[in-house]
Amino acid sequence: MTTNKRTADTIDFTKARLVSTYNELGRQLSESDDLVSRLTRRLQTTLEIKLIINIFVEEVGKLINFDQFEYSCESAGSYLTSEKRSAHSCNYRLNLESENLGEVIFTRSKKFKEEELAVIERLMGTLIFPLRNAVMYRQALDAALQDALTGCGNKRSLDITLHREAELSKRHDCPLSIVTIDIDHFKNINDKYGHAAGDDVLQQLVGCLSSIARKSDLCFRVGGEEFIVVLNKTNEAGARIIAERLRIAVNKTRFVHADKIIPTTISLGTATFKHNEKLLSLLERSDKALYEAKNSGRNKVISAEGAKKKIIYGPSKSQKKA
Ligand code: GH3
Ligand code: MG
Ligand code: MG
Repeated sequence: MTTNKRTADTIDFTKARLVSTYNELGRQLSESDDLVSRLTRRLQTTLEIKLIINIFVEEVGKLINFDQFEYSCESAGSYLTSEKRSAHSCNYRLNLESENLGEVIFTRSKKFKEEELAVIERLMGTLIFPLRNAVMYRQALDAALQDALTGCGNKRSLDITLHREAELSKRHDCPLSIVTIDIDHFKNINDKYGHAAGDDVLQQLVGCLSSIARKSDLCFRVGGEEFIVVLNKTNEAGARIIAERLRIAVNKTRFVHADKIIPTTISLGTATFKHNEKLLSLLERSDKALYEAKNSGRNKVISAEGAKKKIIYGPSKSQKKA
């Protein structure tokens, strides 16, 4: 359907019949089986959603004029081919075997003709399976990096992030810190309230940590009840402040399971990356600081660097000078 409002038709590709048209565009399309088979072949060459969209837009653009193409899917994100948004649009929700694969929108300044819509719909028939494979691939990749219980990153994801952040920290001469967090006496929580209550506490803890940390501070579950928060552009003093903020927030939060309040505290160790050290050493220093926090009474923050320094959030002095 073509309209200047954003209403969408749904194409259910489980039952889709390819529209045949007898006008010039339809003839062009059926004559150029080349285009359909080339598009089909090209779409099978990748599992990257962005590349699939680019190939599709490039080939469709050879038959139909449009200014902008947008694909958005809740589980796979949004992809836009240009900034220009025009008045007329044709939108389709993509369904395959009851699975919602998101929505596509073509826009341009001129109204879409019926025969053009028929061609678009025919070409979209070549898009749907490669797109579904790519969305499933993306979901599998995301799941491989996610902790199933809490939804935060897992250890593998931390490894990838830390390597990336360490490289950025060196390249831009920005400070980078980590906070290692462990729930205090978690075994007692399991023993007293049950394992399900323990699981609930883990989930609520991640909610609490995420609400306090900045968006760029990433939270990872690295063991049963152990988490690491990566603080980019943050030096030792900044890491201590954020860790203290996390500690206080958890201390104040009412963790609840089956109407029972479960008193919960955490101990935290912070460490700041030295540009010449190995990441393993950074993790060990932070872990050692956590161990000290445990040994000095729990519900505490200890910094691997010890002495107090001025806080820096953002680029370091030498970068500002450059
Ligand atoms: P500390 O203050 O020294 O850290 O003591 P703790 O009891 O927290 O530490 P300990 O290592 O003795 O116990 C950790 C417990 O965490 C034991 C284990 O059963 C529990 N645990 C690990 N993973 C999970 C999980 O996914 N769910 C639940 N409910 N418990 C878990
Ligand atoms: Mg513990
Ligand atoms: Mg532990």
